[in-house]
Amino acid sequence: MDEKTKLTADEYPISAAAPPALLAYIALGANLGDREQNLKAAIEKIGEISGVRVTKVSAFFETEPVGGPPQGMYLNAAVEIDCTIPAGQLLRELQGVEKELGRKRLGKCFPRTIDLDILLFGSEVIDEMDLKVPHPRMHDRAFVLDPLNEIAPNAIHPILGLTVAELTRMYRERHTDK
Ligand code: ADP
Ligand code: MG
Repeated sequence: MDEKTKLTADEYPISAAAPPALLAYIALGANLGDREQNLKAAIEKIGEISGVRVTKVSAFFETEPVGGPPQGMYLNAAVEIDCTIPAGQLLRELQGVEKELGRKRLGKCFPRTIDLDILLFGSEVIDEMDLKVPHPRMHDRAFVLDPLNEIAPNAIHPILGLTVAELTRMYRERHTDK
């Protein structure tokens, strides 16, 4: 090959084409309709997002509603995904899944057929108007921590510098009657 046509490593087309994958965690919650079916359908649709592969799924946990008007019990879960799309794009895709599954946006803490929140996105810290990661209330919600702890006890909260197992244990200590 003559010198002019030789490619250097960073000009080589393949190296630029594959964005690096990272592990992200999504919380799922449902308290309207067939809750189990809503969670299963959401997990299936998450796996169909281009650039996303579902790698772990927690058990489904039945939990009391927190805040908002009186409403039925929730079914909550968490999934791990292997992700090559940026966080903002993932949020839009998840909002598309919520819409497809018939979610009406009545407001925060209102009953919903499905709620999909990004908990952790690799070790990224994001503080934008419409996207805050790690999810600002994740360490203070048992219905988020319990499913997440089942699939990712060693995942690290990049702001608090603690593992999910440690956050879960600390939550329990704060909420155990002494
Ligand atoms: P909530 O989940 O707090 O009960 P919604 O699902 O209605 O309420 O979401 C309200 C807004 O939260 C969304 O419009 C979205 O832009 C924003 N948001 C901020 N951070 C996140 C995140 N990490 N995951 C999902 N939504 C988020
Ligand atoms: Mg939400």
